[in-house]
Amino acid sequence: PTIYQLENLTMRNTPSLENYWMPFTANRQFKAVPRLLASAEGMYYTDVDGNKILDGTSGLWCVNAGHGRKRIADAVARQLTTMDYAPSFQMGHPIAFDFAEKLGERAPGGPDAKLDRIFFTGSGSESVDTALKIAIAYQRAIGQGTRTRVIGRERGYHGVGFGGISVGGLVNNRRVFPMLPGTDHLRHTHNPERNSFVKGLPAHGAELADDLERLVALHGAETIAAVIVEPVAGSTGVLLPPQGYLERLRAIADRHGILLIFDEVITGFGRLGAPFAVDYFGVVPDLVTTAKGLTNGAIPMGAVFSSRHIHDALMHGPENQIELFHGYTYSGHPAACAAGLATLEIYEEEGLLSRGAELAPYWQDAIHSLNGLPNIIDIRTIGLVAGIELSSRKDAPGARAYEIFTDCFKKGLLIRVTGDIIALSPPLIVERGEIDTIVSVLGESIRRIS
Ligand code: PLP
Repeated sequence: PTIYQLENLTMRNTPSLENYWMPFTANRQFKAVPRLLASAEGMYYTDVDGNKILDGTSGLWCVNAGHGRKRIADAVARQLTTMDYAPSFQMGHPIAFDFAEKLGERAPGGPDAKLDRIFFTGSGSESVDTALKIAIAYQRAIGQGTRTRVIGRERGYHGVGFGGISVGGLVNNRRVFPMLPGTDHLRHTHNPERNSFVKGLPAHGAELADDLERLVALHGAETIAAVIVEPVAGSTGVLLPPQGYLERLRAIADRHGILLIFDEVITGFGRLGAPFAVDYFGVVPDLVTTAKGLTNGAIPMGAVFSSRHIHDALMHGPENQIELFHGYTYSGHPAACAAGLATLEIYEEEGLLSRGAELAPYWQDAIHSLNGLPNIIDIRTIGLVAGIELSSRKDAPGARAYEIFTDCFKKGLLIRVTGDIIALSPPLIVERGEIDTIVSVLGESIRRIS
């Protein structure tokens, strides 16, 4: 029990909700009817009133090993009482090197991919901006200084930094914020008319990778540093890559000296049933961004896996010169490294990075059993992820899914919605019975809410 439960706090005597300006939240709507979580263990949250809520989303796609892992808490506590913080600029501490070494040994694509040079950040957004900057700095270092353009994709989500929103493809960002100059976008690959309800990867759409050729023809390859995509787009509604798409993108990028960045903030650390999407798809990019599952969500942290050739190209010039003029106060934070090391141990001992592959057939059948319920226009699954797309109510996009979200929460199930798409991504410790519960509770809500 948390202090909130111990003190028997209820909605009436929780703290004031006024001061906390909540992120990515309809603040006024939320504060009128708050949903407050107080503790978490295994597959479940408990809210401030003591109700148990099955976590169908791993928090925000990050608690891959389930909640309340004592080993992580103990490792963090030990680290904080040994050394709470140490600067990483022109200084170091062994645990950061240790964590980087362990990550390097388990890097995306295995030893042959050589993606084992690790830059630590504090979040997914920072990982994205870091990768974009590394790509541009690398091009300059190899004498390709005109390559400063970065290419993203429509419906891409790469966090909230100015770099990330600029390569991202969300209209809500574009409506409000200025974008970096020198970006362009591939079309997204989502095409329910051609690919709806298929199991496995969509058959149609590999040719959309040729958009990169068109952008090369439009802008000139010598202006383009990198292209960034999520191997599976998560936040914009679980969009799977068409068969052959990622391979084709890799080939075109290679042909034109363009670096390929995979944003694996969601797909990293077992979500697809393999350690990384790089392993799942067998396509090796030049840079991989991660966060979330890196520390099981327990302490904020991100990491960029860079290929050796990029790293090595930057290790030039006078040795007293900082090679990459970039870094964060919290890069390689000791407590985050402790959390990350303990997380890796758990993943390995419990086989969690491949557990999604074992469960995927069961998961797929269970989720597809919702096919036929009212308003569902597509169902997609991969590993332990699912996207269930609903038709939108006339003049009220997102309303139907939001009501299903609040209804599920009342019935003790946490799901995630984006527009009218429901996204599911339970912790990798999920049992078959819990998958059944997710499907039956969700199915009941979908049936009830017209
Ligand atoms: N990139 C991807 C693919 C993400 O899904 C997210 C977050 O959901 C981010 C980047 C941003 O991560 P953060 O919220 O930790 O900054």
